[in-house]
Amino acid sequence: MRLTQPSETDARPGVPLIDLAAMSTDVRSTLELAWQETTTTSSFIGGQRVEEFEEQWARYCGTSCAAGVANGTDAIELTLRALGIGPGDEVIVPANSFIATAEAVLAAGASVRFVDVDPETLLATPETVQPAINRRTAAVVVVPLYGNMPAMDGIMRLASTSNLALIEDAAQAHGATWRGKKAGSFGIAGCFSFYPGKNLGAFGDAGAVVTNDAMLADRVRSLGNHGRRAGASHVHELVGRNSRLDALQAAVLSAKLPLLDHWNQARRAAMAIYHSLLRPAVRRVALNDGATSAHHQNVVRVPERDRIREALARQGIETGVHYPIPCHRQGPYQAFTDDPLPVVELAASEILSLPLFPHITYGQIEYVSSCVNDAVWAASGDD
Ligand SMILES: *Cc1c(COP(=O)(O)O)cnc(C)c1O
Repeated sequence: MRLTQPSETDARPGVPLIDLAAMSTDVRSTLELAWQETTTTSSFIGGQRVEEFEEQWARYCGTSCAAGVANGTDAIELTLRALGIGPGDEVIVPANSFIATAEAVLAAGASVRFVDVDPETLLATPETVQPAINRRTAAVVVVPLYGNMPAMDGIMRLASTSNLALIEDAAQAHGATWRGKKAGSFGIAGCFSFYPGKNLGAFGDAGAVVTNDAMLADRVRSLGNHGRRAGASHVHELVGRNSRLDALQAAVLSAKLPLLDHWNQARRAAMAIYHSLLRPAVRRVALNDGATSAHHQNVVRVPERDRIREALARQGIETGVHYPIPCHRQGPYQAFTDDPLPVVELAASEILSLPLFPHITYGQIEYVSSCVNDAVWAASGDD
């Protein structure tokens, strides 16, 4: 494992939430070749590089097809549109996701229905999804938030008995598994973002849809390419738009993909060290049995979150909150829930994302853990 041993020199203040530069360095020479080749061939949009990455990504996820698109939000919207889900339909979405999940549903013309999550895993379950199903419900989008997989068997059963399309927004779960099967491969389609900060990140925006349905993949690709019929550049058989994966981004992703499992393992090793050092008062987000997390974020739950965050910032530790305002509390989205969503709302006030990236050192984890332990101790001591 790449984690180094404790040392005086790296146990110093100044720990970023994420450090992307070291990952870029890991693949520098491969990237320089790809850059040269792409600039020489001038095949910038689509083409062989994109097809190669689509094939590699489908193989990695254990699906037969992948369609590259411009970003993760489009991956969800174009999947819904390709499935014919739109005006008059409702799509179920957990309220603690990144806003893009619900945004994509509205962009497709459907209506969103927010649901609550399990209090320990902060993930949707059949129990939280079931009450939201009605005769307009067309699909459920599950979100492996922070890289943590929902228990997929119950969700798959519910989707199938209720005749709903099951879509995974796996934008935070590249390489996560549930009972050995990869995130993205459970429903009719899995939607990925390769935004730079994701576990597999491009040097800009990029996304993909994985599926075992070749017709669905073709339709997504066509919708994102001005409705073109495959291979017929002047025949537009759908009203599509422009949402394409470009060749340079595909080349970056192909260069990084062979390291994804290694980087995810480094994240897992870092999490194990955090767990050995953080006191029990620093609550964890539970993982489902059978799940292997991609550990996209290292989220803990603490009292007085904002005060603790400020204390850590003063010590040079950058933290995040994913996400402080639940989707159903955001202005334009408030109309989409009637019910209180108490678990999501309570969690939004407690969650804190600590520094986590593949190249984080033992010394950095030790420093962050000790500052967090002290800050939580201080926050719980004086009220
Ligand atoms: C990042 C993210 C998206 C959106 O991806 P973009 O590529 O930024 O459009 C969607 N859903 C979740 C859960 C995400 O984390």
